[in-house]
Amino acid sequence: MSGQNAEREAAVREAAEHGWAVARETAKGYYVMRCTCGRHQTTMHKTPRLSNHFRNKVAWMIRECSTQREGDE
Ligand SMILES: [Zn+2]
Repeated sequence: MSGQNAEREAAVREAAEHGWAVARETAKGYYVMRCTCGRHQTTMHKTPRLSNHFRNKVAWMIRECSTQREGDE
């Protein structure tokens, strides 16, 4: 469990660099993640069955919305 928790915290930190923040925690302990522009939202599970859940979530979040991509091109 602690391993997954550390993985999730790492995912939260990585997403934070792209403007994503934990909006709230659900009753189940999931994190509701919200982006800077406010148009995108996703949920990070607490103990996902798939080991790449957090990696996939972070990749999705960065793809959908990233403060670091602003001004590129
Ligand atoms: Zn957004």
